[in-house]
Amino acid sequence: MIDLRSDTVTRPSDGMRRAMAAAEVGDDVYREDPTVNRLQDRVAELFDAEASLFVPSGVMANQLWLRLLARPATEVILDGDSHIVNYEAGAGAALAGVQFRTLVGDRGRLSAEAVAEAIRPDAFHLTPTSLVSLEQTHNRHGGTVYRLEELAAVASVARGAGLNVYIDGARVFNALAALDAKPGDVMAHADGLSFCLSKGLGAPVGSMMVGSSAAIEEARLWRRRYGGALRQVGVLAAAGLHALDHNVERLAVDHANARLLASEIAGARPGSVDPDDVPTNILFVDTGGVDANAVVARLAADGVLANAMGPSVVRFVTHLDVDADDCRRAARAFVDATRGG
Ligand SMILES: *Cc1c(COP(=O)(O)O)cnc(C)c1O
Repeated sequence: MIDLRSDTVTRPSDGMRRAMAAAEVGDDVYREDPTVNRLQDRVAELFDAEASLFVPSGVMANQLWLRLLARPATEVILDGDSHIVNYEAGAGAALAGVQFRTLVGDRGRLSAEAVAEAIRPDAFHLTPTSLVSLEQTHNRHGGTVYRLEELAAVASVARGAGLNVYIDGARVFNALAALDAKPGDVMAHADGLSFCLSKGLGAPVGSMMVGSSAAIEEARLWRRRYGGALRQVGVLAAAGLHALDHNVERLAVDHANARLLASEIAGARPGSVDPDDVPTNILFVDTGGVDANAVVARLAADGVLANAMGPSVVRFVTHLDVDADDCRRAARAFVDATRGG
């Protein structure tokens, strides 16, 4: 099976498994797991930040940051298609007690002007705004990327109004590869950031929160409350360290494979996808009116897994477990699956 449903499907490589098996561990609740400590120090340094924290999932990282950067009963400005709004089972309301002010971004990206307009004026009967949350890259909009100037402009408006800025950087390393930028270039515009070890970086579990020492200390406390404080978690941190060593530079290959897949499909099905507009590793392809669920079923029968994202839209995500040949084969399967109504 060529599994292009998501980059979450990546499996730990033999080298990663060896690193996990060999990891030196301790009780991380006592802060005595040397491998976790090494990963956290390394990530903080990488992002030019004071501190970082390992958490079990990206959703937990998002929810901890919402808890820390927004006050309960305040408003968070974010794109309506963001992961936090759509895929976190209502946790923003249940756990952080925040209200979402959803905007329609440019393929998921908020402009500084739109953010400025959405900030509530100071008045006792209005819901105060506390936080602006940005998704980099944007999952539901085909892996789109904020340019650094765009991040700077949004952050300047937000901070000028006394708001915090959060970056849900589940795929921030994909963005960095596309921008040819350093982690600190993005972190400079955020009060908190998180990224997933378990997507394109290829680790089986884990996300990292990155921020100030004070915020990360508070995150430790809330992580405990949420049941996310773990013990000999160095076996997972070792996978994260291995991922940072081996799987960051190669993300450019995933981006090239996504563009290849798009151009092979567009060659046979013009207009279904624009190969010049595949910024990272996610592409949405129009089925030309053929029912997307039927296309996905035919693809599966042909050995290719993808997700239906709408009545006539199929999503493919490239990652380290698929290569250029797999993408060519997936393109042929898509063309077959969309033949004649
Ligand atoms: C995957 C993802 C997350 C977190 O997901 P987990 O499955 O909990 O790791 C958060 N934000 C975005 C944009 C994502 O794509």
